[in-house]
Amino acid sequence: MTAASIDLKGLIAAVADVIAAHADELTDLDRAIGDGDHGLNMKRGFEAVRADAAIAEKPLPDALKAVGTKLVMTVGGASGPLYGTLFLALGKELPAEPDRASFAAALTKAVDAVAARGKSEQGQKTMLDVLYPVALAFAADRSMAEIVTIAEESAVATKPIKATRGRASFLGDRSIGHVDPGARSSALIVRAVAEVIGGAA
Ligand code: ADP
Ligand code: MG
Repeated sequence: MTAASIDLKGLIAAVADVIAAHADELTDLDRAIGDGDHGLNMKRGFEAVRADAAIAEKPLPDALKAVGTKLVMTVGGASGPLYGTLFLALGKELPAEPDRASFAAALTKAVDAVAARGKSEQGQKTMLDVLYPVALAFAADRSMAEIVTIAEESAVATKPIKATRGRASFLGDRSIGHVDPGARSSALIVRAVAEVIGGAA
């Protein structure tokens, strides 16, 4: 995978499309264990990223930082600053011409930055329950198809967990039995990215 080989405009469109197509599903998940705004929050954020044509013209690290800034400004809720941190940190950590190894290292650091921002860790029924396994699988050279499966299974695996971070934690035991909305949106983003970069990674 080379930075030049990535179709940034296509990548942004693919993520914005998958989030828009699943906005109602994300909202329903968040209605069950939160306040029902996650679908709308994410859709607003990624439509704002798509609408800023200048982002796709930037070199990859700068584009990722611009995506992060845009998400912080537009998504809102708890997930806005967290997804914003993910993309900002990824942009900061990536060299101008990343190879797979440097991308994997940057992704791991970016997920750590999300955990630091959220004062959270894996196992608390959040987006981290998808982002950490994905970072680990990427670093272990798993195929993009395997990584998509890991992301989707990790999101489903949040269902029996009791939330101990975020709004869902207010429900205590009643958060058990529902997939975490942020875990689901992370899996959707991973799938869209994998479909675009596909075999190139
Ligand atoms: P809000 O909870 O403010 O309404 P959203 O509904 O947009 O925000 O996002 C909720 C999602 O954010 C959760 O499903 C969870 O995955 C994620 N989240 C919330 N708090 C944290 C945290 N401290 N660390 C990691 N992820 C978190
Ligand atoms: Mg919410």
